[in-house]
Amino acid sequence: MKRTKIVDLFRTPELVGKEVSVMGWVRTRRGNKHVQFVALNDGSTIKNVQIVFDLEKFSDEQLKPVTTGSSIHVTGLLVESMGKGQSVEIQAQTLEVFGTADPDTYPLQKKGHTLEFLREKAHLRPRTNTFGAVLRIRSALAFAIHKFFQEKGFFYLHTPLITASDCEGAGAMFQVTTLNLNDLPRTEDGSVDYSADFFGKSTALTVSGQLEGELGATALGAIYTFGPTFRAENSNTPRHLAEFWMIEPEMAFYDITDNMDLAEEFVKYCIRYALDHCRDDIEFLQQMYDPDLISRLKGVLAEDFVRLSYTDGVKILEESGHKFEFPVYWGADLQSEHERYLVEHHFKRPVILTDYPKDIKAFYMKQNEDGKTVRAMDVLFPKIGEIIGGSEREADFDKLNTRIEELDIPMKDMWWYLDTRRFGSVPHSGFGLGFERLVLFVTGMTNIRDVIPFPRTPNNAEF
Ligand code: ATP
Ligand code: MN
Repeated sequence: MKRTKIVDLFRTPELVGKEVSVMGWVRTRRGNKHVQFVALNDGSTIKNVQIVFDLEKFSDEQLKPVTTGSSIHVTGLLVESMGKGQSVEIQAQTLEVFGTADPDTYPLQKKGHTLEFLREKAHLRPRTNTFGAVLRIRSALAFAIHKFFQEKGFFYLHTPLITASDCEGAGAMFQVTTLNLNDLPRTEDGSVDYSADFFGKSTALTVSGQLEGELGATALGAIYTFGPTFRAENSNTPRHLAEFWMIEPEMAFYDITDNMDLAEEFVKYCIRYALDHCRDDIEFLQQMYDPDLISRLKGVLAEDFVRLSYTDGVKILEESGHKFEFPVYWGADLQSEHERYLVEHHFKRPVILTDYPKDIKAFYMKQNEDGKTVRAMDVLFPKIGEIIGGSEREADFDKLNTRIEELDIPMKDMWWYLDTRRFGSVPHSGFGLGFERLVLFVTGMTNIRDVIPFPRTPNNAEF
């Protein structure tokens, strides 16, 4: 169908004075008995185009179905607008109604809705200004991520979503099975007989593509993954989803410093991309939710991230005199309140914390000479806390194997992972960025459920 997107009406001066054809959903209709004004949105931009209906040309009867939420097709003359805040409007010549929206039942009437209310209407909330803005920003960030890595010569590697390795330790897993749960096959000792299951073994949804990513990096040099990840963590926080998207670059011949440099360049690139390409949407969100949004985004771009060891970070927290809900001491897994204290109060810019105690980090991280810490790095952001987690990987077969044995990690299905260290092992590093945490930061939203179209959280898999 021939139409002009509303976003193009506002950025194509040559269209003024021409006849245009637009299609979209009605946000509001108001006016008097001579003229009616319809604000139309088609999702291409936060901006509505105003359509002017002269009641000498259109009857009440014709306009009656044009209510909030209905979908219409209008042709008319694009003219410069006198009204405040809009550069162009359309003088309607023809009107076609595609679909009506009963004012008594359409839930998104023009009054402002709470985000909680809209979560219950997640199937329709993309039609609101807020979610239109968030989803356009999300899309732009996804593109920026591919652009960043492709321009650097990284290859996009597709790692499996169904996995038989249960040792990554990043979080609890969702089991995948075709067994009849009401009639489970049993082995002689009474446990479930997974040899009768679809894959002939127990499988689950992946918590991370990293281990397979390492196979890619040690062949292609540098790869990134960008796909869904699943964690059955029963943590109802504003920063955790059961299904989220993760970006995991993995690079051969990168040490921890190279890894930090890449992580910093990468997030800055994404934020700058959003500021350059999603200005209207970010300005809208700033105005509605977060007056400091743009200055916070620019603040992150302006300065180098602080780089600090976990040990020094803990010292700062211990000496701060601040009363934290969770105790802080060397060896403690830092909570988001601790991370945010360092970023928001102490340094007032993002912090990359390195060299964590080995006992609170994964088995594959490179062990430091001190025997106590590993070459981990977490990137901590204002308002978010941890946005990236990564490390230099242990490249030494014996050290890695010893650690696996110490931790009693079931490696029977992981022989292939150790082959990266058995054959042509190289220093390498990587990290994982939680996509929704990045979208949270860029949009200024405060609940992760509001930056993914259909959130999956404990007790919620609607839509
Ligand atoms: P956290 O301590 O915040 O739970 P984590 O240490 O479990 O995070 P990693 O295993 O290092 O996280 O995962 C890498 C990145 O994925 C994190 O830095 C974060 O941005 C993101 N992430 C982790 N868990 C979730 C989740 N449940 N929902 C959304 N994003 C997540
Ligand atoms: Mn976690």
